[in-house]
Amino acid sequence: MNKPYRKTENNGSLRTKLIGLGEKSFQKNYYPELQRKVDELERFRTLLDYSNDAILIVKLPTGNLNDVNQSACYQLGYSREELVQMTFADIMSPSSYAAVASIFNNHNDKQYCKQLLNVSLKRRDGTEIPVEITLCFKQFVNNIYALVVARDITERKQAEEKIRFLAYHDYLTNLPNRLYFTDRLKETIKKAEKDRKDFSVLFLDLDRFKRINDTLGHNAGDELLKAVAQRLLTLVKGKDVLARMGGDEFSIILADKYTKKDLFSFMNQIYNILHDPFIYEGYELSINVSIGVAIYPEDGLSADSLLKNADSAMYMAKEQVGNAYSFYHKSINSKNLKQLSLESSLRFALERQEFSLYYQPIISVEKGIVVGTECLIRWNHPEHGLLNPSAFIPVAEETGLIINMGDWVLKNACMQNILWQGNSIPELHLAVNLSNRQFYNPNLPDRVAEILKVTGMKGHHLSLEITENTAMYNEDFAADMLSRLKQLGVKIYLDDFGTGYSSLSHLKQFSIDGLKIDRTFINDISTNNDSKAIVKAAIALAKNLKLEVIVEGVETKDQLKLLQSYGCDKMQGYLFSKPIPHNEFHLFLQKDIKGLLK
Ligand code: C2E
Ligand code: MG
Ligand code: MG
Repeated sequence: MNKPYRKTENNGSLRTKLIGLGEKSFQKNYYPELQRKVDELERFRTLLDYSNDAILIVKLPTGNLNDVNQSACYQLGYSREELVQMTFADIMSPSSYAAVASIFNNHNDKQYCKQLLNVSLKRRDGTEIPVEITLCFKQFVNNIYALVVARDITERKQAEEKIRFLAYHDYLTNLPNRLYFTDRLKETIKKAEKDRKDFSVLFLDLDRFKRINDTLGHNAGDELLKAVAQRLLTLVKGKDVLARMGGDEFSIILADKYTKKDLFSFMNQIYNILHDPFIYEGYELSINVSIGVAIYPEDGLSADSLLKNADSAMYMAKEQVGNAYSFYHKSINSKNLKQLSLESSLRFALERQEFSLYYQPIISVEKGIVVGTECLIRWNHPEHGLLNPSAFIPVAEETGLIINMGDWVLKNACMQNILWQGNSIPELHLAVNLSNRQFYNPNLPDRVAEILKVTGMKGHHLSLEITENTAMYNEDFAADMLSRLKQLGVKIYLDDFGTGYSSLSHLKQFSIDGLKIDRTFINDISTNNDSKAIVKAAIALAKNLKLEVIVEGVETKDQLKLLQSYGCDKMQGYLFSKPIPHNEFHLFLQKDIKGLLK
């Protein structure tokens, strides 16, 4: 008889057993049925062996591998004979087996099925295969078996990683991008919060990058960005993160640096490392960088606020000459963009000679002559036209630009005054305003002395005006500063008198020469009894203290008459003249003032 079965490699032992049964009756009654079953088994076995998934039958509770398919052998690097001597634990990475074992031990349901993601099998050589496992439990006779299908997901993992990389990285420099940076910043904040640690965030922006892009083309720009990224990368260690935020902007998390000393030294490293020129097709490209720094937690508690504040600080650094850094401080955000751009143009206004001085005559009504002039700054803004001081003095004050600006005003006003004197104009008294920050600068007396010396102006021809509030800001300092200034022979006037908080007793302790009564009182002096009373009292007070009085803002003859009746002689206001440029002022001096007052 022909052998009914082709002996195959895989199911030989099973067939031998079946054929070995060999009794005639058995063959007659059961053989066809057996043959059908064996065929069926063979088909299933073939199906299993041709599956790409590793399929394993595990006997519980021992975990012995009862049977495996060819893919399992191929993937794990063992023969079937070897595998059936092993347990499931032998072919799984330890962490993965823990998850599987807990299911093996805890399932009660014989028909239970479970899918496990993110586990891995362990090959003969110890390497791991990421798999997705489906576990089904089935009872055969008295034993429970786990039927395991393990699908190799290496490629899917790689694709996922690639997608993740692309989503989190910048295609040009391969650095992490803004998304990744923000995630890491959030993590760093969480950790810092837990460990009560400070750290810092740097925001970098290349100066003049656009010019390189525009003149040499985008390729040059791209190469430059890549090279900058490479150089910066050498400075970033351990838990620090460097990212390209877009365009020519980079950000760094410095997980362990937050003291000014550490940050100065790190920023110096940045400047050093970017100092050598980059070479592109024979061109030497030099690049500067502006850096803004925000420190956790004082400059922000969230990723958003830290980044925003480091960015604002960088903006401030850029407003300087470039290649500069700036630490975030709270006043930055209170400014709107308009103010920032005002500020940036203000920085250049001096060197671009956009400031000019206007002069407003101070009149002695009794004598009918000009006794002095108040010098008032104007800014000829390239876009906004002629600006009054209220538009820019607060910004200049806040940023400290007022110091240089004030220096310029003083020097030029003194020079102008000397020029007038040279033009046989009777000696004029010059009044110059000082801001709070100028007045509280300890070098002020030295600067004034220097300017008097350089211009040849006599101290007693100059008066400096400070507001009441400036005088009261720090009374001890103010008293000391006033006496130092007085030693130079200059006079001191309290400006905008009546609007501040000074009291009689305070005025006495300051060595001042006069008061300027604020124009808001003069405005409604004809109609408002309070204003009348205040002006009257101020004039009486000044006389009592032997102080001079100048009244500001006189616009009408009625006001003039009233003020005269209170015993006030020196006046300033549109009635006589608005503030005017020096050449017009020169002409004004030739006018008949007495005629004006008739
Ligand atoms: P101030 O020292 O009280 O100057 C007088 C202001 O009143 C000037 O305004 C002047 O134009 C204005 N004024 C004078 N007479 C009249 C009048 O009859 N009617 C009206 N409506 N206004 C009159 P300006 O030039 O806009 O200056 C404003 C303030 O800016 C000054 O007040 C002064 O505090 C400050 N300032 C001006 N120049 C300088 C400067 O060079 N340095 C500093 N630190 N502050 C300055
Ligand atoms: Mg003034
Ligand atoms: Mg005033």
